[in-house]
Amino acid sequence: MSTQAQANIGVVGLAVMGSNLARNLASREGNTVAVYNRSPGRTDTLMAEHGDAGFLAAKTIEEFAASLSRPRTAIIMVQAGKGTDAVIEALAEVFEEGDIIVDGGNANFHDTIRREAALRDRGLNFVGAGISGGEEGALKGPSIMPGGSKEAYRTLGPILASIAAVAEGEPCVTHIGTDGAGHFVKMIHNGIEYADMQLIAESYDLLRRVGGHGPEAIAAVFEEWNKGELESYLIEITAEVLRQRDAKTGGLLIDSIADQAGSKGTGVWTVQNAVGLGVPVGGIAEAVFARAVSSKPDQRAAVQRVVTSRPRIQEAGDGFEDDVHKALYASKIIAYAQGFDSVIAGAHAYGWDIDKGAVAKIWRGGCIIRAQFLNRIVDAYENNAALATLLEDPYFARAVAGGEAAWRRIVAKAALSGIPVPGFASALSYYDALASPRLPAALVQGQRDFFGAHTYQCVDQEGTFHTLWSGDRTEIKAEPSTH
Ligand code: NAP
Repeated sequence: MSTQAQANIGVVGLAVMGSNLARNLASREGNTVAVYNRSPGRTDTLMAEHGDAGFLAAKTIEEFAASLSRPRTAIIMVQAGKGTDAVIEALAEVFEEGDIIVDGGNANFHDTIRREAALRDRGLNFVGAGISGGEEGALKGPSIMPGGSKEAYRTLGPILASIAAVAEGEPCVTHIGTDGAGHFVKMIHNGIEYADMQLIAESYDLLRRVGGHGPEAIAAVFEEWNKGELESYLIEITAEVLRQRDAKTGGLLIDSIADQAGSKGTGVWTVQNAVGLGVPVGGIAEAVFARAVSSKPDQRAAVQRVVTSRPRIQEAGDGFEDDVHKALYASKIIAYAQGFDSVIAGAHAYGWDIDKGAVAKIWRGGCIIRAQFLNRIVDAYENNAALATLLEDPYFARAVAGGEAAWRRIVAKAALSGIPVPGFASALSYYDALASPRLPAALVQGQRDFFGAHTYQCVDQEGTFHTLWSGDRTEIKAEPSTH
């Protein structure tokens, strides 16, 4: 291979994601792509299968660096964690001041913040870029969420725009914010994805167990829903999964798949982060927990042994399908409102200037939660970037209010039928909590003051107070509790 610096972009890590991203990059006008992988076998495979893409294949990291024009720009697509650190270190050894290292893997944003600071000290630009859309997205056009410096984005932005998905004429990439902002927003994307999937799964369960429809009939319902406000990739693939036959049994695949859902951890990160920042993300948390409950076969079996009678499944009644549709849409709005609350809280906590409308825009294509509905979020933030919650926006306020009665009927019917709907129910409770003029949090404050002198504020006077619960129970002015 020539060591002339001719490539404008490089990819390190040529497993499925890296190979597909390299192929995507090479297919776009103006890009020449250098590739490198720790084990040469993967490079050889890529060159054998797609050598006509014009890759500059490097055998060593030094050769890789020499093949890149300045500022050198390399995207790392390796196993997140130690693999990423190892590759960053190797690149930092051979890159020079002003060069750009991009981590396109699923890194934890705290790691990205740490890595960016360390590389900045060494004069290198480090960009954590969330890349969504899986294998197919990497090849055909993902949604890309880059963080890092504005300076790095000037070089990187056009390259990423060349490979990103395009939604309504716009590339699904934007500079999210500095250091870990990109991986942070990718994490929230995944959390929302968990909630969206759980809500669809609950809808399926209700249509099947209460509605009495088989999976293929339910697929037809989802196909119908995919023509309206619920139009989305997840609804579309749900119909496909429900229609799929199992070649082994001849029956439907859905009935052959074990009902224990796995996860790779980004949903957990989203919830951990939200808990730390005090953001209620019940929809995402319930989705994470629902997967966890499903994956406890011993506990499920133990309870099924002792529970001898189950509630009678309620009659579906007229308009049941429409009610499920409305409950799904209202709950989905809540999940996205909570996700965007997390984005806002993260931006505040970590000092990022995140354009929420731009985030909604780049999720419209190339990623798992791509949906028509995101246009409504774009509109909402365009109308008022300072919304206290998406639920305040007139479109969303009307949409939720319009589905409210159906939503309540569905949650009630599910509870009476003994069908778990943690997503629907927690979303409704969250809505009711926000909409209630007075909450029992007053009692919690009273209890906290009773046992821990945690103090409370009053509705009718300024200041902080404590009742002498073990004394004569008079109320005194107090310093705000710090514990
Ligand atoms: P992967 O299985 O996560 O990782 C395999 C790659 O990492 C190989 O190229 C391997 O090199 C390299 N690697 C591991 N440890 C290394 C080390 N210490 N030094 C150098 N290279 C090392 O690959 P993947 O599935 O293609 O995923 C790549 C990244 O994309 C991951 O961060 C993953 O989480 C993320 N991802 C994202 C999506 C998405 O939808 N956005 C989907 C899947 C994956 P060798 O060949 O030498 O072993």
